[in-house]
Amino acid sequence: PLSFPLPSCKRLPSPGDFVRLALERQAWPEQEEPGPAQPQPEQEEPAPEEVPQKPFRIALTFDDGPGPYTARLLDGLAQYDARATFFVLGCRIPGNEELLVRMAQEGHEIGNHSYSHSLFQKMSQSAVSEEIRQTADMIETACGVRPWLVRPPYGDLSSSVTRALSEPLVLWSVDPQDWKLRNADAVVQAVLSSVGDGDIVLLHDIHSTSVDAALILLERLSEQGYDFVTVTELFEQAGTPMEQNGRYRQAGARTGSDPSAQS
Ligand code: ZN
Repeated sequence: PLSFPLPSCKRLPSPGDFVRLALERQAWPEQEEPGPAQPQPEQEEPAPEEVPQKPFRIALTFDDGPGPYTARLLDGLAQYDARATFFVLGCRIPGNEELLVRMAQEGHEIGNHSYSHSLFQKMSQSAVSEEIRQTADMIETACGVRPWLVRPPYGDLSSSVTRALSEPLVLWSVDPQDWKLRNADAVVQAVLSSVGDGDIVLLHDIHSTSVDAALILLERLSEQGYDFVTVTELFEQAGTPMEQNGRYRQAGARTGSDPSAQS
């Protein structure tokens, strides 16, 4: 499902780039500790944030956008050298194409969350696959990258969905109910109380409070040793690359739950 960047796009990452980058990061030598209390003549520009190996990985995912707060979120992600995955809606793409270009250029992953956010289990298989295809076309036209991950609306993994789609289906392992809480601190606490290595966190960048929460989480989880990676990177780095027809909730087996039991 790879495609090449359209001429209008600058350097765009492909899944191959994600893997290469992941390998490069793993191969980086330990950063040398700066000597203690070396007197500096004068502060020049602040040193760019170092990127040491972090012990944990997490995939922040943002559904239902892009929206009016997505640019602010992208700014924050860049500040923390964090990558995320955006499961966008086709119906929200017109007028927001530049946000998709930015996501791709800044190393984020774009996934497919359908065109209209309808409940797939009430639709025919052909209607389901048509919505996904249509949205993939729109994403590719907007930013030159064709998505290969699908998150069905409402996390619907009914048999009509799994029969209609061959793409990897990505759900989540941490759901702070941000769409319901609409309170950044409550969302932060809900995530921090349950998050662990390999988790996929569900958030929605169409709510200002959710973006606020994400920006706080970037700081807190960075301090706790988390590296923020895309969904594809999460599974690559866990040694279990994603596959066609796969269903995914988290990398590794922290809870021991069987994702296939959901279908
Ligand atoms: Zn959604």
